[in-house]
Amino acid sequence: MKTDPNCIFCKIVAGELPKFKVYEDENTLSFLTIEPMSKGHTLVIPKEHVPNVFETSPDTWSLAQETVRKVAHAVEKAMQADGVNINMNNREHAGQVVDHFHIHIIPRYKGDDLQHWPTRKIAAGEGDEISTKISSTL
Ligand code: 5GP
Ligand code: ZN
Repeated sequence: MKTDPNCIFCKIVAGELPKFKVYEDENTLSFLTIEPMSKGHTLVIPKEHVPNVFETSPDTWSLAQETVRKVAHAVEKAMQADGVNINMNNREHAGQVVDHFHIHIIPRYKGDDLQHWPTRKIAAGEGDEISTKISSTL
């Protein structure tokens, strides 16, 4: 399995740093973040060192997503939350601080003061142009 000796999450996987563990299986690990956005904010990671979505194999991706699904159910139920946000930051300018693939499960509570990202209306002509650009790159 790929590991990075300088990676904080690899150290958590190896048991070299403490964690508040929520779930573990052969390939994935889930634990509480140390800086929660809300009570019960949980992370899911693959055990192997993979920096982000762009460098993840389909298998690793699928295994992590299945753990996210399981843990999301548990987080919502255990915390008596009213929903969850599931988020992944990829690369520095998308807000990624720890370069080991991780998915945030953030419980939401009715009346909490967390804000959603601002949006705008799609501009005329933009839809055709952008969807064509993306689909032709796939
Ligand atoms: P990012 O901004 O990279 O998507 O999120 C990094 C996440 O990792 C944040 O939720 C941050 O609080 C969490 N984090 C950073 N260092 C540690 C650590 O040593 N232990 C734990 N449990 N979480 C950490
Ligand atoms: Zn790592």
